[in-house]
Amino acid sequence: MKRYKSILASILAVVMVFLVSCGSPTPTKPPTYSPETLEQISSYESELLALRDRMTELSDLIGERNWVDVSNLIHGPLGDLRRDMSYVSRLLLLPSEQKTAFAGAREVFRHLEAIDRAAEEQNYLLAEDNYGEALKDFDEFLTLLPNG
Ligand code: ZN
Repeated sequence: MKRYKSILASILAVVMVFLVSCGSPTPTKPPTYSPETLEQISSYESELLALRDRMTELSDLIGERNWVDVSNLIHGPLGDLRRDMSYVSRLLLLPSEQKTAFAGAREVFRHLEAIDRAAEEQNYLLAEDNYGEALKDFDEFLTLLPNG
């Protein structure tokens, strides 16, 4: 009987908690980053910063009109940029940031594609222009990351 009572008491306690939690509307908190997500983002961020370093090599290569290496750099090491920026913007950032981030990432790709085309055409001015834009859009993207 004692055991039955204590079970009954705990059921009642659960019911009470349930009623209380239903009764008082808690204000909905805006979504925040979990520690796991923050950790993931920061590891992507170091990778992105390393890729940014590689991207700045374009400046010299374009200056030297070394079109073969410009193209190799874009198709080689900088190829990872698309994957990483897409992943971060679509799956790691808060929903409120995703649209801006993904649009920014696409801008960076657009400029890199333009540099690639400029390399094919050996068009220095087009390459130089898009290099500056790519870097600017990339830095804007980085400001959307929660740690930076
Ligand atoms: Zn742009």
